[in-house]
Formats: sequence, C-alpha cells, structure tokens
Amino acid sequence: MWHIQGTRPGPTVVVLGGTHGNELTGIAAVQILAEMFSINQLPFGEVRTARHPSKNLVFGELYLGFGNPEAILRCSRSASDGPDLNRSFLPTELAQKAHRSDRADLRRAREIRGVLAKADFLLDIHSVSSDSAPFICSTVIGPAHQDAVGLLPSDWLLTDPDLFLARDEKRDDHSTTDSWVNRHGGVGLCYETGRDDRPSDVTRVIPAVLLTLTHKFKVLAPNAFSVRTRFSSDPIVVDTRNEAAPDEPKQWFKLSHSEIAIEREFTYEPEFTHGWKPATAGQLIGTYGSGVTVRAPHAGMVILQRSPERIEVTKSLLYMAVPVA
Ligand SMILES: [Zn+2]
Repeated sequence: MWHIQGTRPGPTVVVLGGTHGNELTGIAAVQILAEMFSINQLPFGEVRTARHPSKNLVFGELYLGFGNPEAILRCSRSASDGPDLNRSFLPTELAQKAHRSDRADLRRAREIRGVLAKADFLLDIHSVSSDSAPFICSTVIGPAHQDAVGLLPSDWLLTDPDLFLARDEKRDDHSTTDSWVNRHGGVGLCYETGRDDRPSDVTRVIPAVLLTLTHKFKVLAPNAFSVRTRFSSDPIVVDTRNEAAPDEPKQWFKLSHSEIAIEREFTYEPEFTHGWKPATAGQLIGTYGSGVTVRAPHAGMVILQRSPERIEVTKSLLYMAVPVA
C-alpha cells in the first residue's frame, strides 16, 4: 500500500482495489491513480511529503493500494482456499494469535487491519461476476455513509443486517473490509462497479472516485485532472474545481435471501441475467440442468448472480434484496 502524507491536515482515507484478485476494474483504478499521483514507481509503504509532486493535492493521509496482492497474482478471488480477504475481518479470528498455518487471506487482513482501523473513509473498489448495475455495500448505512456515497453513480445501497454473507461462510459476524472500518468509527464502503472482467469500466469509475475523494472525503484539493488510461486514446479530463453536481439519490436495500447452488449447470431466465432485476414472489429465476427450478421466495431484487461458468455446488448462486423499511 502506498501512502501520501499531505501538507495540510485532513482525513485518513484508504482506497483499495484487488481485495478480490480477479476483479479487474478496481486493480486498474488503483494502477491509474498511482500513476496519476506519480507513486507507481515507489515501493509500497513509501511515505512522501516534502518532495512528493502530489503533496499539495492531499489533505491528511491518503493510502492507496492493492487489497490482496497474492490473490491478484493468482488472478483469483482469494489467496487461499478458506474465506477470502473480504471475509477475513472477523474480530474473533483477528484477535487470535497469528500462526504459521494461517491462510494467506487472514495474514493479509492482519497486515492491513491497522490502517483500516484508523481510516475515516474506506473506498474498496469491487465488481461482481455477472452483469450488474453498480451498487455500494456497507454494514452501516447511517447519515455519514449516505452523504459519502452521493457522487458515486449507483441507484442502490446494500446492507446485510441479517448476516447472509457471513453465514454463507459459516461466520457469525460481519467480516468485510467495510465492516472493520465501520466498527472503528469510520465510513467503510465497498463500491461494486459492475462486472469483474471489464477493466475498461475505469473510464467511468475514475471520475466518480476523484469527485468523491475531493468533495465527499475531502482528502484531495480541487484540481483539473488529466488522467491517462490504456482504455481510451484521449486522457480522461476530470475537473473537480467546480461545485460538484448534486448528490444522486440512492435506494437502501438489505439482503433478504441467499440461494445456495445444488447443481453446477444452471440457466437464468433472460430477465435475470443481470443484477438488480425485480422479481415477484414465486417468479421463475432459472432452471438447473436436471430441470429443478429456482423461484423467488418473496418479492424483491435478484442480485449477485453467479455467472454460469463459475457456479459451485454448496456456494451462493444468487441473493435477493428488499428495501429497508
Ligand atoms: Zn469483490
């Protein structure tokens, strides 16, 4: 993780990509931001103040980095077979003494938990396995969280008070990166930008991230950015000096159902190949190879569908979400 200490006081902010190593958009976003701040040639952990070309841009402390470098090298969700990094911030597990046999994802959680615990804001950039509208996850969705997400293009905020994500990993409490920041008094956000094999999505993600870092987290000075990416011949121009556009309203949903796969072969109904599609109670969502059907147990949004080539028996196939009352 790189660290830029600003020349003026301000918040402590962490921006991560690659917490899941196969989610290419967040990895590309961190690479682009590192180039933009001229830190991509520096070793991780380097703190630059007086000589740093971006020093006057930063208020407070900006940490920027790859969540799980070992998983990125493997190009897989996790760096081990156990719970992945975004399920490794379980307080009872982290409180145990570190051991040689700890899985790589848990070791990584131990390395970065200190930085996350002192963060005022975390933006952990994720993506999902099937096409989906962008959305934002947090274990807490209070006023500070709702204000912080106003400039991220997304209609949905997702929370999980009933621990569906945790229970799918046989855990009894929240263990995501955002939950760790939220437990320590910060604003922890996981930003799900779309499908995980679309790094070109950074052309819309980077402007949203820069606007959020400037006008919401207030860790960047307003500036005219010209950002080079390998996805467009012209640089992306982001001018954050002007008054930010008004916040985009979000709808607040919570997970209400986890459907566990019972076979590997599954075909979604055409209207449910994308995330955030409304279903009525009993509506057909898809059919297993054997002919067994999956129907919506109640009215709600069908989200987080596992793409057909990645379905694993006993793992989640899809989730449903309902509005928070
Ligand atoms: Zn992820």
